[in-house]
Amino acid sequence: MIVIGIDIGSVAAKGYIISSGRHHRAMVPTGWSPREAGQAIIDQLLDASGLERDQVERIYVTGYGRVAFEHADKTVTEIKCHARGVAELYPEVRTIIDIGGQDSKVISIGEKGQVLDFAMNDKCAAGTGRFLQVMATVLGLDVSELGDDEDPSQMQTISSMCTVFAESEIIGALARGNSKGGIIAGLHQSVGKRVAAMARRMGIKEQVAFTGGVAINPGVKRALEEEIGTKIIVPEACQYTGALGAALLAYETHR
Ligand code: ADP
Repeated sequence: MIVIGIDIGSVAAKGYIISSGRHHRAMVPTGWSPREAGQAIIDQLLDASGLERDQVERIYVTGYGRVAFEHADKTVTEIKCHARGVAELYPEVRTIIDIGGQDSKVISIGEKGQVLDFAMNDKCAAGTGRFLQVMATVLGLDVSELGDDEDPSQMQTISSMCTVFAESEIIGALARGNSKGGIIAGLHQSVGKRVAAMARRMGIKEQVAFTGGVAINPGVKRALEEEIGTKIIVPEACQYTGALGAALLAYETHR
């Protein structure tokens, strides 16, 4: 059986193809068209697997762009897909923290990977990947450089919760000669604090997994571990767990 799961996010579209126990994955920037990004994922997955479109029996799509993509057999919520993807990789996980481009979520899951509860921030850029992208630009860096460039020993606390005010705060801190590494550590702490507060309100059960593109950044993982007070698992393909979950749900429903 051959199925595809696609997660069309605000920043990146991710996909998994599962074919008789083997899988391939692909990622493209979402750009301005979620529909084109979804199609590009299907093309890349077919290329990588050497399969033809008519061999694919089912396509499930999730993510913020899912409604714009009309080639799917079914749309599924991101919450359900992340839960399914993480439960497959780490059955012992009970709390998932997902930080993507424009939202952050905390999901509580049961022993069979079922969703028990969730909390979500999609109203404010603070505590999301977008916040870090904006701040990286102010610092003259790419968002992928933040993790390696932080210096927690010089931690510069960023007190503004609002992205626009935080941007001014950083410009001021740079002008006063504060170290870039210390400012970056402060930014990570700000994201960690905000998301940890949301997780605490919902209740944190171990083990805890951290997913989404922001989980690639070891500085945010460090900050979250400090704020929550427990070790966190980051899956190797942390940005793909929603797509993996969508593919697994398609596979299981079809079967
Ligand atoms: P979405 O599902 O909304 O598209 P993702 O889960 O794909 O979001 O995460 C996108 C975010 O991940 C970006 O806003 C950025 O902050 C972060 N990110 C992406 N790639 C990297 C990287 N190589 N290093 C650190 N952070 C990254």
